[in-house]
Amino acid sequence: MPLRIVEEAGLSDVGRQRTTNEDSYLESSPVFAVADGMGGARAGEVASSIAVQTFAENHLEDGKPEARLEEVARAANRRIYELAQEDESRSGMGTTLTAVIVADGDIATGHVGDSRLYRLRDGELERLTRDHSLVEELIRRGELAPEAADNHPQRSIITRALGPEPDVDVETFTCPGREGDVYLICSDGLTTMVSEDEVADILRRTDSLEEAARELVDVANRNGGKDNVTVVLFRLGQDDALGAGADTLSGQETRTGLSATAVKTAVKARERETETATRPDAGATAAPRRSAHPPTGRRRRARGLVAVAIVALAAAVLVAGFYIGSRQFYFVGTSEQGLITLYRGLPYDLPLGVSLYETEYSSAVPAATIRPPDRRAAILDHQLRGKGDAVDLMRQLEQGRLEP
Ligand code: MN
Repeated sequence: MPLRIVEEAGLSDVGRQRTTNEDSYLESSPVFAVADGMGGARAGEVASSIAVQTFAENHLEDGKPEARLEEVARAANRRIYELAQEDESRSGMGTTLTAVIVADGDIATGHVGDSRLYRLRDGELERLTRDHSLVEELIRRGELAPEAADNHPQRSIITRALGPEPDVDVETFTCPGREGDVYLICSDGLTTMVSEDEVADILRRTDSLEEAARELVDVANRNGGKDNVTVVLFRLGQDDALGAGADTLSGQETRTGLSATAVKTAVKARERETETATRPDAGATAAPRRSAHPPTGRRRRARGLVAVAIVALAAAVLVAGFYIGSRQFYFVGTSEQGLITLYRGLPYDLPLGVSLYETEYSSAVPAATIRPPDRRAAILDHQLRGKGDAVDLMRQLEQGRLEP
């Protein structure tokens, strides 16, 4: 019996630290896509919605799936590129795109950037796409240990995007589907906040994809929600198996801003008003919790408090020393929006969400405009510099006149 999509769900959330949602998604069975936009002044939002709109408007069912995916992705690229050329404020905007079409039981994928496609099969989660990102390139070349990737400050730099150039290299591949497979397409706002083990766990224990989507987004937000989070899920089953899908589909219109052009197409859940939360104060979280020393008498309690105070003070002195020491350093990198940015401090993140760097100045120039990728990698390697040096480099990058 042929396979079909028996259940599906899609959800996008602004996260807890951004004010706008630059992700877009398409849930239009048998076509599904996630796009994560970049570029200042809300241009990223424009780029990602053009990407999914282009997929919504084209019939991917006609022709060979991989060829169609590539064709439509390149058409979207051209639209974004041309719009960016016409409008200064949108100059250099771009977006990732991970799109699939399910045809004859096969999952054909077109992929650009660092959004991801996963498959849960027999309880095991497997990533089917590779990131087109600086960090993954460094790992492939053996220049970075895979364990270092998760906390790498430049992990959001992508080496391929729709929009920055007139043409784009679209990676395509096809995997045969199986009954019971669950597929997840997501933006990096999920994968930078939630471990793959945890994603697998959520997919295994939830009763519906609707619930799984909600849970994935909630956990990403609970873990910090630093970026926009988007998930699209679908499940394959036998043709006669009527899953919960029929019910869940009807609920979409209330949850998502529906595009005018495609009835079953949910394009972006726009700014579900999640309040913007700031990170907890580092000093407060660094102090040991008092419950770790259960007091049994008044004297013991007093001694316990003194010990806690001393540890907290030592931690504060250490952090302050480190902070002052690191202030003399600058490095050039990329913001989470993909823009070339000058940072002050050291390029490391500590546990508990403490960064040893802060943004000194963010340009409006997307990192993707530095070509070729090798050169981009060399420039954005967050080498420590003095202030004058770093400012000079930023100026050259902004004026696009850096010598190769
Ligand atoms: Mn993102």
